[in-house]
Amino acid sequence: MNDMLEKENDKLEKENSNKNNFNYINTADDLEKKGIDARRIRKIDFSKKRAAVESVFDERTVFHLNKLLVNGPLDTIEGIISAGKEANVYLAYDLNGNEVALKIYKIDRNTSKWMRNYIVGDPRFKKMPNNISKLIYLWAKKEYKNLKRAYKVGLNVPKPIVIKSNILIMEYIGFGSIPAPLLKDIKDPKNKQELFDDIMIFIKDLYQKAHLVHGDLSEFNILYHNQKPIFIDISQAVDIEHPNAEKFLERDIKNVMNYFEKIGIEFKDAEKFYYQVINKSNKNRV
Ligand code: ADP
Ligand code: MN
Repeated sequence: MNDMLEKENDKLEKENSNKNNFNYINTADDLEKKGIDARRIRKIDFSKKRAAVESVFDERTVFHLNKLLVNGPLDTIEGIISAGKEANVYLAYDLNGNEVALKIYKIDRNTSKWMRNYIVGDPRFKKMPNNISKLIYLWAKKEYKNLKRAYKVGLNVPKPIVIKSNILIMEYIGFGSIPAPLLKDIKDPKNKQELFDDIMIFIKDLYQKAHLVHGDLSEFNILYHNQKPIFIDISQAVDIEHPNAEKFLERDIKNVMNYFEKIGIEFKDAEKFYYQVINKSNKNRV
């Protein structure tokens, strides 16, 4: 943290003297106090945290995060749910005490290269950003916009709440401090057929109503909550006008097909389903 940022923080701290939790670096103590069930929320150890935070987040991210904590809608950041290659996801609380999910994208040159394939060709994006931060900001905003499109047509995705630079705040899916499990971790889902149908309807509605293809759909990006699938990780989703939209759709269907085969449900007409989704007869195509 540099001097400027520290000064800014001090100023913000004064303005908010009634809020002692404006700086998420203090939240390890809060965790101790609350003694939350930390089975799935990995607590951020205070000593390691600073180093971890600094290696993951650049100053601007820390700055924006502090602003969201001072001005709302965030109240506290409780703990980390997932540390991924491109992003970390945290459980946080808003000013009303409700859980929210906080997804923070890393400004990382290495992970950003492949993102190009999901930006160029999407009619919503006219040109590639010319630096890494801008690219990651666009990527985070893309997830926000995709969530919005899907949510608006009634699909089972987390409701997007705020996008600020590389920080996405969205509806949290889980019970209390326990986030919903991924479908891949459900050993034997009871309502397999219903689950299958729900996922098929999602793929179809995402394409036909939200005009998007997920692009990374699998049991790794579907949460299982109240025995229903909730679809996440939608930053790479492309508009159906994208030149590779149909290729991505085919891949999504294959992933889902493989998953259901593993749990004993045969996906009989995958090809027919594909043509149903894109609403073209296969006779006209091949
Ligand atoms: P990535 O796979 O790129 O790291 P995801 O969006 O898939 O990012 O999120 C990583 C993990 O965080 C998910 O596998 C899930 O366990 C958790 N997660 C993501 N979004 C939410 C949410 N809205 N509510 C609860 N948990 C979430
Ligand atoms: Mn994911």
